[in-house]
Amino acid sequence: MDMDFDVVIVGGGPAGSTAASYLAQAGLSVAVFESETFPRPHVGESLVPATTPVLHEIGAMEKIEEAGFPRKYGAAWTSAESRNVPHNGFVNPGGSNVDFRTAEVLFSERDQDGVDRDYTFHVDRAKFDSILLKHAETQGAKVFTGVRVLKLDFDDPEAVRVVGRMGGREVDFRSRLVVDASGRQTLLGRQLKLKDSDPVFNQYATHTWFENLDRQELAGRDGQADFIFIHFLPLEDSWVWQIPISETVTSIGVVTQKSRFAEAKADREKFFWDTIATRPDLLEALKQSKRVKPFKSEGDYSYAMQQICGDRFVMIGDAARFVDPIFSSGVSIAMNGARIACQDIIEAHREGDFGKDSFATYERLMRGGVRRWYEFISIYYRLNILFTAFVQDPRYRLDVLKMLQGSFYEDEEPKALAAMREIVEVVENDPTHLWHPYLGTLRAPSAAPKF
Ligand SMILES: Cc1cc2nc3c(=O)[nH]c(=O)nc-3n(C[C@H](O)[C@H](O)[C@H](O)COP(=O)(O)OP(=O)(O)OC[C@H]3O[C@@H](n4cnc5c(N)ncnc54)[C@H](O)[C@@H]3O)c2cc1C
Repeated sequence: MDMDFDVVIVGGGPAGSTAASYLAQAGLSVAVFESETFPRPHVGESLVPATTPVLHEIGAMEKIEEAGFPRKYGAAWTSAESRNVPHNGFVNPGGSNVDFRTAEVLFSERDQDGVDRDYTFHVDRAKFDSILLKHAETQGAKVFTGVRVLKLDFDDPEAVRVVGRMGGREVDFRSRLVVDASGRQTLLGRQLKLKDSDPVFNQYATHTWFENLDRQELAGRDGQADFIFIHFLPLEDSWVWQIPISETVTSIGVVTQKSRFAEAKADREKFFWDTIATRPDLLEALKQSKRVKPFKSEGDYSYAMQQICGDRFVMIGDAARFVDPIFSSGVSIAMNGARIACQDIIEAHREGDFGKDSFATYERLMRGGVRRWYEFISIYYRLNILFTAFVQDPRYRLDVLKMLQGSFYEDEEPKALAAMREIVEVVENDPTHLWHPYLGTLRAPSAAPKF
């Protein structure tokens, strides 16, 4: 039967372009349909080191280095409160009681397989995504921008019919397999009614860019100006990201419960400033700088799919699942998901069988990896002082760092995660526990979600 392509990929974000590079390099005929014209802005600007091996494998690392994105050597967490939290036996690397107000990690503290440098990047996603999509084209993928895929038709058992709109006209292609990389638009999840909102997380983010924010002053320590900073707010389940975009531009985002935004009945600009004002040090620093982008908001972003692959389809990146941005995991999951899925897809192509079972390895590894991300994130929201304690205490520090580096796809569970799970359960079940008053309001189930 005549096919236009072996694989059609819907979406040219990091998941789609990474998959396109892997598949084109393996000799498959592959097309990417992207509805936007690149470069286009996108939230999700801070990477974790687990993206490094993928950038090497697809051959794009040199182009990313050449783009001059700020190097991210580590991460830091701050809190304005001088809460007298009982240390419960947790110590910092110097052996003193743990300090719950701040914590920091350097990626150089732990070697990671396939990672040949002690930094990753913060990226302007308009630039980063364009580089990766153009790279896929140089590897042999056909890239069509300005084409919105409207529908995927699986009626024919041999081929997927891809129906899209290009300019004013409808276009129609046939492909053996479709990879849904449509991000939070979740094309297939919605079409096949596989999408479930997360039962626990319902966070809301408002973000923008500022020029000339004094990152050194905020960091306090030399060498940390280009870290990602997560500033805890004295409001439950609320925090601020500070991500360097260039030498002078910084991305700032406020994340809080969606219900808090709804209750405030304020526009997003007022809500942003009112929330920031709970951290006077941040407010002061931001007032000295200049906002250079309109405010943008993101909500309803936590969901899972009942199924992430099936006969003639695979979902990757945000099209498969999104939890919460607290640990900057999204782009890494998108690129590593593409990497793992493509191993199965290339094998399926060799065997001439694009049935669901051909993607079993992808499903198992992603399910395991994302379940761990989910649990790590949920524990953070349930008892965030536990995260600060674990990240400082030498017994757990490297294992927590391993998670923060994004190494989540092995079969073995990180030891720190099991220890955190045990402690959070004890604290939740014991109202007399010294840490009980510090519990958050979210009660994410430890049990695995559907995917
Ligand atoms: C508030 C917030 C903060 C975040 N912060 C971080 C962070 O610091 N670090 C991090 O790593 N991640 C972060 N993320 C997550 C990150 O944004 C995503 O995980 C990442 O962009 C996923 O990549 P993707 O390729 O799957 O999807 P996307 O990057 O969204 O790409 C999908 C592409 O598909 C296209 N598309 C959609 N529908 C169609 C269609 N029907 N036809 C054709 N094209 C289509 C879109 O135009 C888009 O270009 C954050 C997310 C949120 C909500």
